[in-house]
Amino acid sequence: MDRETLLARGQVPPLDRATIHPYVDATPGPTFYQRAAHPVGLEAERLLGELEGGHAVLFASGTGAVTSLLLAVLQPGATVAIAEGGYYGTVGLLREELSRWGLELVTFDQTGPPPPADLVWFEPCSNPMMTFPDLDAAIAKAHADGAIVVVDNTVLSPLLLRPLEHGADFVLHSGTKILAGHHDALIGVVSCARPESAARLVAFRTTSGIVAAPDPTWLLLRGLKTLALRVERQSASALELARRLVDHPAVKNVRYPGLGDPVAARYVSTFGPLLSFDVADPERVERSLRLIENATSLGGVASTLEARARWEGDRVPPGLLRLSVGLEDVDDLWADLARALDA
Ligand code: PLP
Repeated sequence: MDRETLLARGQVPPLDRATIHPYVDATPGPTFYQRAAHPVGLEAERLLGELEGGHAVLFASGTGAVTSLLLAVLQPGATVAIAEGGYYGTVGLLREELSRWGLELVTFDQTGPPPPADLVWFEPCSNPMMTFPDLDAAIAKAHADGAIVVVDNTVLSPLLLRPLEHGADFVLHSGTKILAGHHDALIGVVSCARPESAARLVAFRTTSGIVAAPDPTWLLLRGLKTLALRVERQSASALELARRLVDHPAVKNVRYPGLGDPVAARYVSTFGPLLSFDVADPERVERSLRLIENATSLGGVASTLEARARWEGDRVPPGLLRLSVGLEDVDDLWADLARALDA
């Protein structure tokens, strides 16, 4: 079935907040206790698994999903190789917390081959540096070295890229972003190539308690109904704004794979809502915006922009602005941006 049809059909199930469901014939069913599973979550996992061609498991947030995946599949002493410029929270989690539990972190340039490691972590359209790996070659090399391969697909979503089809073992999403899409739900997803991996993650989730509650899960399911439309419109506007930014005299280094990244173009034909660029005075741009929200996060229906040096000044250019394009009219967005850049 076409993925747009898959997402649009059917009803979102009732929001069932029950923490228990009675045993049947003195036997606990799958939703006997909410920490193990709940009906809305099972439906969301079925749909996401079908969308991605794997077996989806929900977690309390994208970061909860990262933590669970690393702790569930690795042993102390394992080495994790993460793409340079990938989400700073994933790097920070490993550097500041999981290192105490014996996980080693190395970073690498994902536009080249990955180093030997126990787990290799790619992020196509890395956030916010927007690099894109040659997925087929890089995943084959990582597997040849015996590594588990994870792709953080938060920025593109399974509508634009399905990394399991390129050999990844796990795909991670911050569902908080484009999947739920409305800046009103915190949730994470791991899609697994193999059912036994999903069973392992469900077991870890049940014992650790890093669960997605019914309310954000319901919002995710409802948001998925419009995912195809949102991704298409947000990507078209992002491409248009990226092209106009290239020509603006106050802007340097517009980063958007749709501007001619030949490797990205081999894997996707639509490039998602996220771009970044450099200016001399990022805070003046932040203060001058009237339509675009000066806020963090990405992938929502409202456009957001922020200076990333605020959070990750050790690894991004000081003037880098990250823009996530929403559903507003593209000319209104450009008018706001151009006025802020001219201010
Ligand atoms: N991965 C990427 C690419 C992200 O941008 C984020 C959040 O910004 C995360 C993971 C973490 O997700 P969450 O904020 O849902 O914990």
